[in-house]
Amino acid sequence: MASVPVLALVLIAAPAGASKNKKLDPDQIGNRDVGKGLNFYSIEKEIALGKQMAGEVERDAKIIDDPVISEYVNRVGQNLVRNSDAKVPFTVKVVDSDEVNAFALPGGYFFVNTGLILRAASEAELAGVMAHEIAHVAARHGTRQASRGQMMNVASIPLIFMGGWAGYAVQQAAGLLVPMTFLKFSRGFEEEADLLGLEYMYKTGYDPTAFVDFFEKLQSLEKKKPGTMASVFSTHPLTDSRIRDAQKHIQELLKPQAEYIVTTSDFDNVKSRLARLVTRRSLGDQKDANRPTLRRRPDGKIGDGSDKSGVDPDERPTLKRRPD
Ligand code: ZN
Repeated sequence: MASVPVLALVLIAAPAGASKNKKLDPDQIGNRDVGKGLNFYSIEKEIALGKQMAGEVERDAKIIDDPVISEYVNRVGQNLVRNSDAKVPFTVKVVDSDEVNAFALPGGYFFVNTGLILRAASEAELAGVMAHEIAHVAARHGTRQASRGQMMNVASIPLIFMGGWAGYAVQQAAGLLVPMTFLKFSRGFEEEADLLGLEYMYKTGYDPTAFVDFFEKLQSLEKKKPGTMASVFSTHPLTDSRIRDAQKHIQELLKPQAEYIVTTSDFDNVKSRLARLVTRRSLGDQKDANRPTLRRRPDGKIGDGSDKSGVDPDERPTLKRRPD
C-alpha cells in the first residue's frame, strides 16, 4: 500500500524533457518553473523556514552595518534576482567572516561573507558566486533536498550531524545553527546552480567567464595552500568537471555579447572600504594586548586604506570588448 504514493511522487519528481530544454535557454528566464520537483514545503512554509534560520544566523554572526557596503552588495544581489527565475523577494546581508563563501537560505535570505568580497577581483567575479547562490533559491534546492531526506525517512534534525567532518567544520567556522541539508547540496543540484547562475549573470550583463576565472583562482589557492578555502570547498566542491561544464555552457548556450560588465568603480570603493573596516576592527580587538598586530589582507598587503584605486566614482562600469 505504502509503495504506491512513493512511486507516484518519484514520477512527479522526474524532470520532463520540455522543461529541461527551457532551462538551457536564457531567453526563457522567469518563464520556466525551475523550482519544480518533489517538495513537501509550500512557498509560504519555505519562506517561514528560511526566516527562522536567518534569525539564527543573525544572532550568531556579525552583520556588517556599514550603509555603503550593505547598499552596494544588496544592489548587486537584487539586480541578479531581477534577472533570475526566483519567485521570492530577497534580503541580502553581509556577514563579517574571512571565509570565502556566500549562502542563500530557502525563501531568499542571502548572506555574503566579507571574505568573498575581499577575494573577488571584480564585480563580475562577486556576481558569479552570488548568481550561483540565487540559483539554489530559485530552484528551491534546500527544501527539495530536505523533502528527499524525509522521503528516505530521515528526520530533518539529525541531518545536522550528517554533514560529516566537512559539514561540522563549516558550521563551526560560520557559527551557524543551520542544518547542513540547507547548506550543502547534492552534486546534481550544484551542477544545476552552476548552469542557472551563469545564465543569470549573463542576462544581468556580466561576463560569464568571470565565474570560471574566480573558480580557477580559488582552486589554485587551495592547491598551493590546502585548507585556505576549506569552507567554500566543503559546501561547493570546486572540481575540474564543474569548470569544464561551466566553460561548455558558456560556449554552447550563451551567445557572445559585444560588451560585458567586468567591474565598476563602486566595487573598488566598497572593497577598499571593507578592507579598512576589517583592519580597523582587528586593531580595535588588539587594544588591550599592548602588542598591536596588523591584520594581513588576502592579497598579502597590510591594509591601511591607501590602496584606493583612484577611479572617479562617477566613472561608468568597465566594459570589456570581446575579441572577435
Ligand atoms: Zn552551490
